[in-house]
Amino acid sequence: MLDYIVVGFGISGLSVTRSLSNRKLSFVLYNNSSQNASLAAGGLVNPLMLKTGKPVWNVDEFLPHAKSFYSSFNQEYFSSLPIHRVFFSVEDQNNHVSQFQNSLTSLYTKYAILEAYPNINAPYKMSEVLGGGVIQIQRLLQNELYNLKQQNKIFTETFNHDLLVFHKNHIEYKGTKARNIIFCEGYGICLNPFFKQLPIQGNKGEYLLFKSRELQLNAILKNKYFLIPLGNDVYKYGATYNRNDFSKLASQEAREEMLVYLDKLISCSYEIIEQIAGIRPTVKDKKPIYGTHPIYKNMHILNGMGSRGLMMAPLLAEELLRHIEQGEPLRKEVDVKRFIAT
Ligand SMILES: Cc1cc2nc3c(=O)[nH]c(=O)nc-3n(C[C@H](O)[C@H](O)[C@H](O)COP(=O)(O)OP(=O)(O)OC[C@H]3O[C@@H](n4cnc5c(N)ncnc54)[C@H](O)[C@@H]3O)c2cc1C
Repeated sequence: MLDYIVVGFGISGLSVTRSLSNRKLSFVLYNNSSQNASLAAGGLVNPLMLKTGKPVWNVDEFLPHAKSFYSSFNQEYFSSLPIHRVFFSVEDQNNHVSQFQNSLTSLYTKYAILEAYPNINAPYKMSEVLGGGVIQIQRLLQNELYNLKQQNKIFTETFNHDLLVFHKNHIEYKGTKARNIIFCEGYGICLNPFFKQLPIQGNKGEYLLFKSRELQLNAILKNKYFLIPLGNDVYKYGATYNRNDFSKLASQEAREEMLVYLDKLISCSYEIIEQIAGIRPTVKDKKPIYGTHPIYKNMHILNGMGSRGLMMAPLLAEELLRHIEQGEPLRKEVDVKRFIAT
């Protein structure tokens, strides 16, 4: 009998399978390509909410754990980069200064008001956030998927929830027995009959990828959207938010919206090379969801990562495993039980 079946291989599934491997627990993984939030992600890790200047929820726990997670592979996937918010006006700049004076965010924010970089339009200058950076998440997922294939641990197919059989102390799927199953399906959770009552909503995001030799930027910028350097003169710009369109197709509307703000931000030439879309799994209280199903004790979930999955999923997966294997308590504000009664 296996220890686990895992369904889904975005950042949530990767974090779970990594925690399982670290514990030398056996598993197989089912993954299809119905969702791609992690593959579409900008790769950004940002410790602050740039609008308010406040630290993101529990950043002092999530950020160090995420950095050590992304450094634990045989290649480095995290690059530390400053994040600059481009001020829209003098008033915006003044607000930043008073936010800084009234808050405890000095660990991540620099008081300095910075001049623009070459080829960047920032007449009202920029703030600086420290401690963040960019993760090459697409490369990491592709490499780890390849490794799991080599170990015969992955079925590239849709998991059919109707075929799951429950026994007293284990579950069984197509003849494979396992002690536990963990669903990491992203927005695909809306087709999961065991967790369909969870208030997970889709929020579509789109990015533009462009190439520019002249830009030569080695920092993350934000005006309306984020500009993220990916290396080799390639940059990402986005991402949009849309709660009404759940197709994975790139839209002309989002492209035009992003181009308006990209043209305001950079003054050199560039060439659009791609547009990517994905659906973020978001929760109405803006917190992720993890834990054990109240009826089926060997069924678990890690989901609802919203727009900060890359920073939060590694620690939450570790906590979920400690809960299942060692009985350690979960964080109440993230526990699935806040939505499903026992
Ligand atoms: C455009 C965009 C930009 C973003 N940028 C950032 C960013 O810069 N930083 C950040 O932290 N977050 C970002 N996010 C949010 C982040 O991507 C998500 O929080 C995170 O990727 C969610 O990961 P996940 O593993 O839960 O879901 P997913 O990445 O969607 O993975 C779920 C996987 O499960 C598979 N699956 C689903 N159902 C089944 C089934 N029945 N059988 C088999 N497989 C199944 C799916 O096909 C998929 O492979 C962004 C999101 C979008 C859309």
